[in-house]
Amino acid sequence: MFRIGFGYDVHRFEFGRPFKLGGIEIPFDKGLLGHSDADALLHSITDAIFGAVALGDIGSHFPDTDPKYKNVDSKILLSEAYKIVAQSGYKLGNVDATVVLQKPKIRQYIDEMRESIASILETDIDKISVKATTSEGMGFVGTEEGIKVFATVLLMITE
Ligand code: MG
Repeated sequence: MFRIGFGYDVHRFEFGRPFKLGGIEIPFDKGLLGHSDADALLHSITDAIFGAVALGDIGSHFPDTDPKYKNVDSKILLSEAYKIVAQSGYKLGNVDATVVLQKPKIRQYIDEMRESIASILETDIDKISVKATTSEGMGFVGTEEGIKVFATVLLMITE
């Protein structure tokens, strides 16, 4: 038994915030704005995990109106999401994500992000794919206002 999930997230860049992506900090003069640490890659994977088992979304589990989640490390949200589905008898098959941003170039950080995500999901790096592309200068990503991330997750019933 397999379940597939899809996640999508967008955050706006703002000067003077740390740029957190995939659970690591990437050197840049801007960071992502949000109630939590705004890690759009971890958020989209978290959403895909909930989606795979039709258990709502990141906002219904971790509402941004709850002060408990103010500036929360998104690694905790992803880890909690995975615990919830693992308790229902699922384990991770694989993750495939695409980050769409104009700047900075993140190619050199891809493996570090994969390692970070694998460690949160207690799996091997070869089950985690992170890809990056630009939007060819078009739209809010092209004008460097923000970032978009798409993620798919495959879950399998254990035993
Ligand atoms: Mg988000």
